Amino acid sequence: MAHIEGGCLCGQVRFSGDAEPVFQAICHCKNCQKQAGTAYSVIVGVPRGALTVTGTLKTYHDKGDSGGTVDRHFCPDCGSPILSDAPANPALVFIKAGTLDDASWVAPQIHIWAESAMACTTIPAGVPAFPKNPG
Ligand SMILES: [Zn+2]
Ligand SMILES: [Zn+2]
Repeated sequence: MAHIEGGCLCGQVRFSGDAEPVFQAICHCKNCQKQAGTAYSVIVGVPRGALTVTGTLKTYHDKGDSGGTVDRHFCPDCGSPILSDAPANPALVFIKAGTLDDASWVAPQIHIWAESAMACTTIPAGVPAFPKNPG
C-alpha cells in the first residue's frame, strides 16, 4: 500500500489516495506520444475508486492502436495528462507517473507498444518488452 499524491502542472487538479499500485509500465504507443508530447508514458495502475480527485478534468475519448477505447483525462487549464482508463480494464485507472509528487518508487516492470518506440529511447536489457499490448 502506498500513499499516492499528485496533480497537474498548474495545480488546478489534484489527486490522492492510499492504493496498491498493481501495474507499472512504460507505453510507447503513438497515442501516448501524441498526448504526452514526448517519447512515452510511464503509467501506474491503481484500483478504480482508490483516488480522490479535486478540480476539473476534461476527457478525450481516444481509440487505441488496437481499436479499444481509452478515456484520457487531462487538466483543461495547463494540459497535463493525469489519468486514463479503458473499458478493457474496468478494475483499474492509470496514473501518468509524471504527475506524482513523489515518483521515486516508480519501477515499471514492462514496456508495451515497443514497436513504436522512438529511436532515441533505450529499453533496458532484462525488462520485458512487448511489440504491442501483451493482452
Ligand atoms: Zn493544470
Ligand atoms: Zn500508450
